[in-house]
This record gives sequence, C-alpha cells and structure tokens, in this order.
Amino acid sequence: MIQLHDKKFKPFISAETLDQAVEKMANEIAKDLGGEIPVFVAILNGSFMFAADFVKKYPTNCEITFLKLASYEGTGSTGKVKQLVGLSTALKGRSVVVLEDIVDTGNTIEELQKLFENEGVKELKIATLFFKPEAYKKEIKIDYIGMEIPNKFIVGYGLDYDELGRNLPEVYQLHE
Ligand code: 5GP
Repeated sequence: MIQLHDKKFKPFISAETLDQAVEKMANEIAKDLGGEIPVFVAILNGSFMFAADFVKKYPTNCEITFLKLASYEGTGSTGKVKQLVGLSTALKGRSVVVLEDIVDTGNTIEELQKLFENEGVKELKIATLFFKPEAYKKEIKIDYIGMEIPNKFIVGYGLDYDELGRNLPEVYQLHE
C-alpha cells in the first residue's frame, strides 16, 4: 500500500504486465500501418511514460510529437477539456495515431477528434493504454486498447493523483 496526499493506493498492475501490453500495442499498430511512417501524438502529461516506452518498442521508423490537454482535477472528472499546447508538426496527409494514457468518459478523445478535423490528416487512430468500459459514454471507436480496467481511480506509470504518483513504474488503484 502507498500513500499519496490523503489517499491510500494498492498495487494493481505490475511493471512487467505494462511492458508486455505496451509491446503488444506497438507491434499491432506497426502491422496495421504497413510501411508507413506514422506520427504519434502523445497526450501530456499522463501519457509521457507510456509514449516513451511505446516508441522504444515500435519496430520501424516513426515520429512523435506532444499535445497537452487537461480534463481532470483530483479524482473527479470536471467534464471540461481544454487545449493547452498546440500542434507543431504538420499532419497533413499523414497517418496519425493519438497515444492516450487512459480513456474514461471519452470527453478528451472527442475533443481531440474535433481538433484533428481541420488538420487534413490521412487517417486518425486512437490508441489508449487503459480503457474503462463502464465509464465510457461516447460512440467514437477506440482503435487500440492496451488493457480494459474497472471504473476505479488509478495512479502510476504517468498517471497522477494531484500530481503525485506519475513516477511510479507500476500502477496502483485507489483503496476504498
Ligand atoms: P476522459 O476525458 O476520457 O473522461 O478522461 C481522460 C483523462 O482523465 C485522462 O487523460 C486522464 O488524465 C484522466 N483520468 C481518467 N481516469 C483516470 C484515472 O483513473 N486516474 C488518473 N490519474 N487519471 C484519470
């Protein structure tokens, strides 16, 4: 059990399991994209660790860029998503794969889809390491899912609780 601020968290997903899930995603996406050089757009802050491990496991050439959005405060979703840092890479005509740490209600990916509509991308795919099927409220197809998890708050491997826990190499679940 670990303590972050006022809450306790219990071990949930080991570093080894995460590693295997990330490797599987990298290979699956590379296979689907054939010989193309994709642009991965990692959504900060939460996906920084996933994105770094993912591109290290990606078997062929790729580009990576970063976009910062926020939809969460503490352990409850505010339902609001705002773009904080714009896209610097030209995405016109490219195959773009968004790398998300976690898809919960789907508000964030809906916002992202809108954002990419005017970029003239060839195709847009969504990849998320974690997916909470019980919380998901949208129709948008999620192309790649690392792991489905229950509708409980998690931290670690890039994910935070009020900025703590991002550095943990494994994932912990809120202990209630
Ligand atoms: P959505 O917009 O799909 O509701 O939520 C997506 C964002 O909410 C994620 O990118 C992440 O920042 C945050 N989030 C959702 N669920 C969790 C969770 O269990 N733990 C943490 N730390 N953040 C979460």
